[in-house]
Amino acid sequence: MPELKVSAIREGTVIDHIPAGKGLKVIEILKLGKLSNGGAVLLAINVPSKKLGRKDIVKVEGKFLSEEEVNKIALVAPTATVNIIRDYEVVEKFKVEIPDVIEGILRCANPNCITHYEYVTTKFYVISREPLKVRCHYCERTMEEEEILANL
Ligand SMILES: [Zn+2]
Repeated sequence: MPELKVSAIREGTVIDHIPAGKGLKVIEILKLGKLSNGGAVLLAINVPSKKLGRKDIVKVEGKFLSEEEVNKIALVAPTATVNIIRDYEVVEKFKVEIPDVIEGILRCANPNCITHYEYVTTKFYVISREPLKVRCHYCERTMEEEEILANL
């Protein structure tokens, strides 16, 4: 089956191999709905994929991702690959990876956790990747995928 063609972008980022149904969440956590550079954001849902059966793809014009943003994607879409596009060509391609320690990008689900009262950077240890499970450094609360996605 030929690859489905979605309009190409000149400069920016293509986030490929997102599990089907998670593309919107990727757009939400990266706040792509309010891109300050006015670049186009394209979302393809349920694209046939050899690896995943079905996948979502997000293309973002004129934006390159920070390490923090890549780590956020990894939590939502651990299978994702990131393609950096310059002048319509893929100049760099890498797979996202869930780090061992997640700092600053996740809120703790425990309302009594010190991170909600003091100005400290949140810190979680990844205790399982499949299924995703993390533990708060401060209150030791364990959070599973659903809670993690709700607190990104
Ligand atoms: Zn906590």
